[in-house]
Amino acid sequence: MLKLYNTLSRKKEEFVPIKETVGFYSCGPTVYNYAHIGNLRAYICADILKRTLKYNNYKIKHVMNITDVGHLTDDADSGEDKIEKGAEREGKTVWEIADFYTKTFKDDMKKLNIQEPDVWCKATEHIKEMIDMIKKIETAGYTYSAGGNLYFDTSKFKHYSELARLKLDDLKEGARTEVDENKKHPRDFVLWFSLEGSKFGKSHTMKWESPWGTGYPGWHIECCAMSSKYLGNQFDIHSGGIDHIPVHHTNEIAQAETAMNVHPWVKLWFHNNFLIVKEGKMAKSAENFLKLGLLEKKGYRPLSYRYFCLGSHYRSELNFSWKALDNVENSYEKFKNKIIEIRNNKKGGTTDTSSHIKKFESAINDDLNTPVALAVTLDLMNDDKIAADSKYAAICKFDEVLGLNIGEMKENKIEASANIQKLLKDREQARKNKDWKLADELRDKIKKEGFEIEDTKTGPKLKKT
Ligand SMILES: [Zn+2]
Repeated sequence: MLKLYNTLSRKKEEFVPIKETVGFYSCGPTVYNYAHIGNLRAYICADILKRTLKYNNYKIKHVMNITDVGHLTDDADSGEDKIEKGAEREGKTVWEIADFYTKTFKDDMKKLNIQEPDVWCKATEHIKEMIDMIKKIETAGYTYSAGGNLYFDTSKFKHYSELARLKLDDLKEGARTEVDENKKHPRDFVLWFSLEGSKFGKSHTMKWESPWGTGYPGWHIECCAMSSKYLGNQFDIHSGGIDHIPVHHTNEIAQAETAMNVHPWVKLWFHNNFLIVKEGKMAKSAENFLKLGLLEKKGYRPLSYRYFCLGSHYRSELNFSWKALDNVENSYEKFKNKIIEIRNNKKGGTTDTSSHIKKFESAINDDLNTPVALAVTLDLMNDDKIAADSKYAAICKFDEVLGLNIGEMKENKIEASANIQKLLKDREQARKNKDWKLADELRDKIKKEGFEIEDTKTGPKLKKT
């Protein structure tokens, strides 16, 4: 029996899908910059959930959106459109920015061995669906116009406080939020920004015709419109970070339930906790912005970041530090070497792995307890009574959930000519000298010889391409 924590009830519940195929929607990235590794944790957690459902033989339809319009720098409708801002920053068009960072996000997913959703959907390709849904909300009587924009009237929706357990009496907008004087109530939110109404909308490049004037949709409507298009009026699971609970997901529920006259719209809300970074503030524009590429540049492997995430429960905060990552990189290397040793070992013994399998399954089925699941995997790896091939078969089965790509783990040692070894040495020297241009040239030369370099904490390793 699979038990999952539901933010809506604040309890672990037995998972029972509505229909044969589990409908699963994940709030995707806003593609205006590289993904922060804290955001990537959310997708690793959702991936573990998806893999656990598959392990339990559920069929799944997984949908993820790409936000390429309407997400302002503050989630509660203040500030500027993130994509427009990104375009300004880089001197590119909004479309170029969105395309570029969609690609980098998908590359990150691949490197972290996160399975792709069945449906990718872009906000800008679903404006019609959003307009249709807003019309339904308007017909149901939950909207008002002010200053040219169309707003959702949260005071009319009686379930508004349920997901976030908001205390409606003392609801005030946070100090960081600029108060929008058009709103009747601070929690109200924009369904449609018209260029006349939006303070920042005059020069907005992305705009569409609508019954409420030329403009663009609010951020929250896109997830409702796209999820209902691909998963129907009600579905099983909606995932995202805990930061989405009080605003984005609360507003999604208000819109979807009024437009489609359903309750509850989503059966189970799945939220992961934050990655906590204590080593100073890291601005998105700064060179030390914590993206996956920075970890790679510093010699950490993406899958060891995944391994790091598996080591803590998705509902716990995860403390990030370079020191912690160093430790994980070493444990991951040991884990990998042990896997290879088991794979190459012909040692006999008992073939019964059932007690380990049972422990593993009860861990993952208990609200995705990956730290315990990982500990069970290590126990099995170190159990000398079990025959190596039985052990390996069970670990590969566990990897359907862990997603560490165990079948692909290879030894670091590789036969390379003296010439290539020399190029590798020269590149190391260039890196030490911070001559990145020369280091990149040498990397390309090595690539032409058929080898790729993997920078690890224990030094650079060659891989055949
Ligand atoms: Zn969303």
